[in-house]
This record gives sequence, C-alpha cells and structure tokens, in this order.
Amino acid sequence: MFNALVVEKDDDGKTSASVQQIGLDRLPEGDVTIAVEYSTVNYKDGLCVGTGGGLVRNYPHVPGIDFAGTVETSDDPRYKTGDKVVLTGWRVGEAYWGGYSQKARVKADWLVPLPDGLDTRQAMAVGTAGFTAMLAVMALEDHGIKDGPVLVTGAAGGVGSVATAILANLGHEVAGVTGRPETANYIKSLGASQIVAREELNETVKRPLEAEIWGGCVDAVGGEMLARLLGQIKYGGSVAAVGLAGGAGLPATVIPFLLRGVNLLGIDSVMQPYDSRVRAWARIAKDLPMNKLDAMVQPAVLSDLPQIGDDILKGQVKGRVVVDVNA
Ligand code: NDP
Repeated sequence: MFNALVVEKDDDGKTSASVQQIGLDRLPEGDVTIAVEYSTVNYKDGLCVGTGGGLVRNYPHVPGIDFAGTVETSDDPRYKTGDKVVLTGWRVGEAYWGGYSQKARVKADWLVPLPDGLDTRQAMAVGTAGFTAMLAVMALEDHGIKDGPVLVTGAAGGVGSVATAILANLGHEVAGVTGRPETANYIKSLGASQIVAREELNETVKRPLEAEIWGGCVDAVGGEMLARLLGQIKYGGSVAAVGLAGGAGLPATVIPFLLRGVNLLGIDSVMQPYDSRVRAWARIAKDLPMNKLDAMVQPAVLSDLPQIGDDILKGQVKGRVVVDVNA
C-alpha cells in the first residue's frame, strides 16, 4: 500500500481531495511503474485538485501533471529498475493518474531519462513550468532575440521565475512584470535588471503600435497584457506565448504582425515529442543556475495540496512548489 492524493466527486458534482492509502492494483495500465520522489504544483494542478476545470476525465482521480522518481518495474527495454526518470505532459495528472502519489504507472513513451547534472528534486523544482520556460526561450532563440531587454510576464510565478533565471544566465537583460511589488527583490535575485508593474501593461490597447522596447518576450499571462505588449516588441522580434493566467481573450489588432513583423509563437509543453523533451532537459541542466533554482523553491507535502492548489489559481504562489510525496 502507498499514499496518494485522491480527488473524488460526489453525486452533487462536488469534488474533495484527501490523502488515501491505495494498492498497486488501483494504478492505471502502463509499461513502467515508478517510485515517485517529487512532484510539483502547476496552474493546471490547481484546477485538477479543485473543480477539475474540465481537465479531469474520470473520478476518482490522482492529480500531479509532473513527477520525477526511480523506475521500479518496466516492460519496456528503454528503462530498467533503478533508472531515474522525469515526466511532464501527455495529459498525465489530467486524463491519467499523475504524480501526487508514491507510485505511478505510465507509458514508457511519456518518460525521459533524468539528464546528467540534475537530481529528482532539482528536476521537479524545474517541473512543467520550468520545462515550458525553457521551450519558450528555445523558441525565441530559433527566431532571433533582438537587442534590448527581454520581457517576462508573470515573473514571480513558476514559468516566469525559471524564464527570468535562464534568460539572465544566458546574458540577456531581463525585465520582469509583476502585480506583486513585494516580489521585486525576488525577481531581481533571479537576474532581472528591471521590474515593470503589472498596471503599466494591463490596459486595453489604445494604440496598436507604441515605442519599440522589448527584444523578445516570454508571456505567461495572455489577455490584455499580451495584446498591449505586442505593440512594444522590436521590429522582427518574437513573443513566446505560454499561458493565460490573466485571461484567454486577446483584444489585439493585426498591426504589430503586419507593420513590425512580430512573431507570436505558441508554446505547448504537453505533446512535445521525445527528442524535443530530451533537448530541453539537457539545456535546463546546462543553462539554469542551480543556486537560483534553490531560491525559487518552497517545499510541500501531499496534505498541503488542496490549499496550495487554491493559492496558485489566485496567482498567490511565488516561484515553484516542490512536493515531497514521501514526507
Ligand atoms: P503561476 O501561478 O505560478 O504564475 C502565473 C503568474 O501570472 C502569477 O504569479 C502572477 O505573476 C501572474 N498573474 C496571475 N494572475 C494574473 C492576472 N490576472 N493578470 C496578470 N498577471 C497575473 O503559474 P505558472 O507560472 O505555473 O503558469 C503560468 C501560465 O502558464 C498558466 O496559465 C499555465 O496554465 C500556463 N502554462 C502553460 C504551459 C504550456 O505548455 N503552454 C505549461 C505550464 C504552464 P505576478 O504575481 O508576478 O504578477
């Protein structure tokens, strides 16, 4: 028997989450069974621990969209007992049982070997948010980062924190947008040289083009903020759009694309092919300073998750929450 955070739905459609002891026979089918060591809390996890947000297909459900741990048994030749592995995406923790559990069983295709230079805790300090931040930086690099500061929105959040640390470590000047002035020192400690108040960018677009300021952008917020900043990107620059913490609508015009050649690059971490995942994890091990990663982490245990899930949906979590599922 082992511990897992199980979310159940009652006849009235109300969900509740509790730590329960369950057996291996309850795990879904898959090629590899993993002794999970760490998982994390991402925005989607907040939805799945709470109401499900339309992401959970069947109840009872074990959330946790990412995890790192050690292979216990494997029917796939690519993995053997004792291998360290990491998982992000593939709708694990949404449509399939996830990492808020001391054991998980998944398809071998969804795993990647832990890269050299990262342990399981560090891999989850990065987690889905940090993996996505790396994908965003790689997408900006592919399209060319222009001179000038790179803007990171939602900078105190999970994606924003890791994006800030990576970009600064690569030598870019970083401007972090935050709605929480008290996090300014934290964002600067990750390497940002400039803080932009959320209000400055949170107005409906008045002019489709403004002064060209940013050499590129990692945007975790979307909505009005994304619409506004499109008009401030330098000619030919790119925005890697990662999230919608500030809304799913996009009240923009086509003018920045037509008259400034701005690229809007959509980033999806969920369905990344194996080679791309391996490449991104190798870059994380190389380009993310581990001392900065330590500063982002707040620890948690399974029983903390209902509260933290709530907090992340309200935009109140700073950095990355790492869940020690065995504590
Ligand atoms: P966090 O909650 O950790 O960070 C989001 C940040 O956005 C907050 O910290 C806050 O930053 C800012 N924010 C929150 N609400 C608002 C608002 N109403 N207006 C403006 N800013 C706001 O979440 P994550 O970093 O983990 O995820 C960010 C987004 O990226 C989410 O939408 C998530 O679903 C998405 N995502 C997408 C992935 C993909 O594959 N495309 C993968 C992972 C995440 P501050 O306090 O600094 O202002």
